[in-house]
Amino acid sequence: MMESQKQYNPKFSFEFFPPKTEEAVSKLQTTQAALAGLNPDFFSVTFGAGASSRDMTFETVLDIHTKTGIEAVPHISCVGSHKDKIKEILASYIDHDIRHLVVLRGDLPSGSVSYGQFHYASELVAFIRQETGAHFHIEVAAYPEFHPQASSPTTDLRNFKNKIEAGANSAITQYFYNPFAYYRFIDNCEKLNIDIPIVAGIMPIVNGTQLLRFSEICGAEIPRWILKRLQEFGDDRASIRAFGIDVATELCAHLLANGAPGLHFYTMNQSMASVAIWQNLGIAQR
Ligand code: FAD
Repeated sequence: MMESQKQYNPKFSFEFFPPKTEEAVSKLQTTQAALAGLNPDFFSVTFGAGASSRDMTFETVLDIHTKTGIEAVPHISCVGSHKDKIKEILASYIDHDIRHLVVLRGDLPSGSVSYGQFHYASELVAFIRQETGAHFHIEVAAYPEFHPQASSPTTDLRNFKNKIEAGANSAITQYFYNPFAYYRFIDNCEKLNIDIPIVAGIMPIVNGTQLLRFSEICGAEIPRWILKRLQEFGDDRASIRAFGIDVATELCAHLLANGAPGLHFYTMNQSMASVAIWQNLGIAQR
């Protein structure tokens, strides 16, 4: 099990979203400074629909890199986009010596009906390779519990493989709380001769209501024993946080012990839980 993954040195990364207000900008700066102290392999910044949000990804990436000296990786999605716009974005990344991307399809904003010139992330990966050759290291998304729109698990796996054949170098998973879903996914990938690193996405639980809302949308399963605990904690945020750190620490330790090639933390622009998990795992001093 996980043989294909054991050849890779584990990589650690943290994901942020671009802040929208002055207050959020200053909060992210505090967060990135705290997490930079852990010396991760990279930070990544999500990419939203809409031009202003897209510009914010770029600005945030430049700001993080300048202030922390740690590699900052922009996400880029293709839903609703045109080739000219994507080319423009890629050119500005190349001008700023950005060499690493997380490449996604994205989701249509509610009310929109047109996918634009790209329908799937594999098409964007192929386009980036066609336009920029080997300049970028390309990460793509993987779904151990399967993407909610996939017509079947087998098709979803084949679609994942298409992204690798189009030129992806590595992958980051959607978050999950059941490590066996991830191990099974890796086994299935091995059967399809997929052997790129597939880093586990980790969502520390800090807010029960928010977690339920996200999981509903992205199809991540919240096990009953976690749900029941969250219900019991109600508004007791300190207990939720302590429980969340405990659950994520155990999950991460299990994954690393079984050969996961890294952990990517969905930080929600907060540092406390991620720092605590790193300290618990003993990877704080790298
Ligand atoms: P795809 O790989 O294109 O897959 C989407 C669906 O289409 C799947 O069901 C797949 O099976 C199916 N499919 C693929 N190819 C075909 C085909 N040829 N024919 C039929 N069906 C096909 N969203 C953002 O908007 N911004 C972000 O910054 C962002 N960052 C993310 C980071 C990570 C690590 C992850 C895991 C997700 C992120 N997302 C982000 C969410 C992502 O955009 C959504 O999950 C989206 O619904 C799917 O994106 P994808 O790149 O996985 O799409």
